[in-house]
Amino acid sequence: MPERECPMCGEAMRLREREIVERVPGTPQTKATKYREWVCPECDYFEESEE
Ligand SMILES: [Zn+2]
Repeated sequence: MPERECPMCGEAMRLREREIVERVPGTPQTKATKYREWVCPECDYFEESEE
């Protein structure tokens, strides 16, 4: 697992995965999109990790 330091306080950040489920308009289907974000456990700073 890659490491990243918080730019605000220098603490080691954690990579968190979040899944957003959206309904596709006009159909009974849903679409799941996964996001990854870096979260600092100390100061609640976070940023999205785009790949
Ligand atoms: Zn921090």
